Amino acid sequence: MQIAFIGLGNMGAPMATNLAKAGHTVTGFDTAGTTAEGVTNAATAEDAVKTADVVITMLPNGAILRSVAAQVIPAMKPGATLIDCSTVDVESARAAAEMATAAGLQFVDGPVSGGTVGAINGTLTFMAGGSDAAFATAKPLFDIMGQKAVHCGEAGAGQAAKICNNMILGVTMIATCEAFALADKLGLDRQKMFDVVSTSSGYSWSMNAYCPAPGIGPQSPADNDYKPGFAAELMLKDLRLSQQAAEAADADTPMGQAAAALYEQFVEAENGKGMDFSAMLPRFEKRGRG
Ligand code: NAD
Repeated sequence: MQIAFIGLGNMGAPMATNLAKAGHTVTGFDTAGTTAEGVTNAATAEDAVKTADVVITMLPNGAILRSVAAQVIPAMKPGATLIDCSTVDVESARAAAEMATAAGLQFVDGPVSGGTVGAINGTLTFMAGGSDAAFATAKPLFDIMGQKAVHCGEAGAGQAAKICNNMILGVTMIATCEAFALADKLGLDRQKMFDVVSTSSGYSWSMNAYCPAPGIGPQSPADNDYKPGFAAELMLKDLRLSQQAAEAADADTPMGQAAAALYEQFVEAENGKGMDFSAMLPRFEKRGRG
């Protein structure tokens, strides 16, 4: 397949490389001039997409997705498929889907979970929205870049699943970190705390797979001075998307709202920017109730 990959950042570059390694011809474009192994860069986004059967975008946010979609859709081959793997608001995903459909193209929103490690190892989870036909086109590519792809529903459903998942993640990471900080103050050994919780009803991905305490559990950003990993500001972005969606849908999400407020404070007022999102633990560690 001829594939164009727009947005060769931390996630996009290794994803594009995995497609090239699997034998696809991949042309890339990134405004920052970044490259990826096995990928030939084009001079413009339009050049990258004009002969592609599938165009994949992996971009920072919904506004950029909308502008890239408006730029590349008119240059795409009739019948080609646009797959957006960025994490964006549901409205932007639906707007891109409408633009693509109006131009006679297929569209899939396919945001991912699994981080940069999953992107490099080809073990991402894709949550997809779009028609059955569009998903069927995207699925073999999802199978190269990831280990699981769930077709969640029509356009926008992938983004809806993603922000619900990450709202749970933000809330459970905060709960795990505040519990460790409380355990410290109660004189409980962190390893014992992990041994109990990771095999008891408090277990979660945050505790078991991404433990925020250094030297405990599997390797995680906590063991690397909280370098991301998954940056606190990206978690804040996803929590804001969840609250934007909750407001639009009139859904009551008090824990998601509290998590968004805490990450906002951490990123914007407490030097959390550039730290992994699990660095909530050293934040809580230093605080009392006041
Ligand atoms: P990144 O900032 O490393 O990469 C984004 C790339 O898009 C950059 O290289 C940038 O130059 C490029 N770009 C910006 N505007 C462009 C344009 N108009 N045309 C072409 N390229 C353009 O970000 P990332 O970590 O790769 O994340 C990408 C998306 O994946 C985000 O939506 C993020 O929320 C999501 N995501 C990230 C992770 C993670 O762990 N990093 C995990 C899951 C999902």
